[in-house]
Amino acid sequence: MTVRVRIAPSPTGNLHIGTARTAVFNWLYARHLGGTFVLRIEDTDQERSRPEYTQNILDGLTWLGLTWDEGPFYQSKRLELYQQKVQALLDKGLAYRAYDTPEELDAMREAQKANGEAPRYDNRHRNLTPQQRAAYEADGRSSVIRFIIEDDREIAWNDLVRGNVSWKGRDLGGDMVIARAASGNDFGQPLYNFVVVVDDIDMNITHIIRGEDHIGNTPKQILLYEALEATMPTFGHTPLILNEAGAKLSKRDGVTSISDFQRMGYVPEALVNYMTLLGWSPPEGMTEIFALEEAAQHFGFERVNRAGAKFDWDKLNWLNGQYLHIKPADKLTDLLIPYWQAAGFQADWSDRPWLERLAAVIGPSLSRLDEAVPMSEYLFKDAVGFTEDAIAQLKQDGSAKAIQAVADAIAAHQPLTETTVQDLIKQVVKDQNLKKGLVMRTLRAALTGAMNGPDLVQSWLLLHQHGLDQTRLQAALEAAQGK
Ligand code: GLU
Repeated sequence: MTVRVRIAPSPTGNLHIGTARTAVFNWLYARHLGGTFVLRIEDTDQERSRPEYTQNILDGLTWLGLTWDEGPFYQSKRLELYQQKVQALLDKGLAYRAYDTPEELDAMREAQKANGEAPRYDNRHRNLTPQQRAAYEADGRSSVIRFIIEDDREIAWNDLVRGNVSWKGRDLGGDMVIARAASGNDFGQPLYNFVVVVDDIDMNITHIIRGEDHIGNTPKQILLYEALEATMPTFGHTPLILNEAGAKLSKRDGVTSISDFQRMGYVPEALVNYMTLLGWSPPEGMTEIFALEEAAQHFGFERVNRAGAKFDWDKLNWLNGQYLHIKPADKLTDLLIPYWQAAGFQADWSDRPWLERLAAVIGPSLSRLDEAVPMSEYLFKDAVGFTEDAIAQLKQDGSAKAIQAVADAIAAHQPLTETTVQDLIKQVVKDQNLKKGLVMRTLRAALTGAMNGPDLVQSWLLLHQHGLDQTRLQAALEAAQGK
């Protein structure tokens, strides 16, 4: 049997991290077994689906490297198939038209509540006579299509992650609506639990791997597989991603869509690596830093946890840093330019040597690409302000002397290189009889405006190439002298 799995996002929002993680597990499973990964866009909900969300989902999956083998298939283009299948269930007597008005349904639920019962449809229109039906139609009532769920059914499956799971028919809320209201012989919009099964059957999906939030849908879907006389797939419900408080990660937690992570400067290799670790543990001997292809070699559901996976920003940042620190300067430069440009920095963007040198200098300190903006601002701006600490440093005894001596020595050390800068500093230390630490700290304050930051000598060389070192030294001298 060839394994066929799918990811079936609804385009009612941007690609969510939970959906993306489900996509990762499906992708890994397909690649592990040489199977097929199908993409289906579940856009039957016309009111909430938007083309821009579909685009965001396709872009996000592509950016993450979660390549699909078939699709994207759009449910909105497959309505005819769903209608045929609704009709087939009606013809077999496994589904029926129910004419309840919203007011009647509300009254039914209120009565159940008053009796301390769980709300459910009481199947009151399951056995209408042809005369009753005709009377409702003559009244102009519209009807939904309900699929029969017998209370005494026991539905069980062997879940890839959770092992044996079973449900009772009576806990499924009564006969379920599979198509929304329409008049006469028409069908309204078919609903998720139904279309997902029709499509999974039609696309020969063998393994349904999705988030645990869908576990309550699975018994209903199993009954639909039976009704449609299809081969039962294997189900696997993956643990949810939890926030700090241990609740399901939701929009309220702030950043949850893949495009947000992208904008914040996470790289796709790090994000897919991290998402894989949200629920899956690599086998012994395998490091936590891996490419998807590598994880695919070892992936299986026996190492997927049942417990929810806590989202850990520190770990993600650490992992992202690991990828950024080893990025070649030219690649890192390509990634950083959009951030610098978005921040409004001015530079000659074709001056690759300068930009790559800068990328190489700050790369080892980055855990996110967007951090490059505050970290390198002092190299793009003509003038920088001084932090309080920097001012304090500049006002120390000997600082002004050090700055003046450095400024005077630059001309004699051309061309300025790592070696000549070191020589220059040594000479200033010796000639002015100053401590090297003081000279270095003063230079950092003078050139960068702050006491912490990327490598000082490299920063100096970058500034020098833009003719900015002398002006910075002069400004620092004025600050040192309290002007
Ligand atoms: N459209 C559903 C969702 O986005 C798919 C669920 C499933 O995989 O069956 O949650």
